[in-house]
Amino acid sequence: TSTTESTDCLFCQIVAGEVPADVVATSERSVAFRDIDPKAPVHVLVVPRDHHGDIAQLAAADPELLSDVVALADEVAGDLADGQFRLVFNSGPRAGQSVFHVHGHVLAGTSLGWTPA
Ligand code: 5GP
Ligand code: ZN
Repeated sequence: TSTTESTDCLFCQIVAGEVPADVVATSERSVAFRDIDPKAPVHVLVVPRDHHGDIAQLAAADPELLSDVVALADEVAGDLADGQFRLVFNSGPRAGQSVFHVHGHVLAGTSLGWTPA
């Protein structure tokens, strides 16, 4: 759905400005802010302003909005790093998803290892 759920969703609250965050970039439809527990020199979360639970739900409901999230991730990597980045969408608790408002993790600013498990 595209409904705002700001009362019980942390990232809806950040989008609404009700919870403070270090916002590094915005578009009309998405917001990028620094992860509170960074795992790389640049670790930014990119979220659509509308509430969707995970990347598959977002892709099915509003593919243009998913494209907007990816474009903002690319902009952040260009602004804060050398333009190269990893974009991670954890989907489901076993994959590490802990906030159920879709967010892309932009990881950049160093040579990244590959140890997913
Ligand atoms: P997930 O585990 O769902 O893929 O990613 C959630 C991310 O949100 C985690 O990397 C976590 O550090 C980050 N996070 C959790 N709470 C907050 C918060 O209040 N502010 C910010 N900026 N990041 C948060
Ligand atoms: Zn939300």
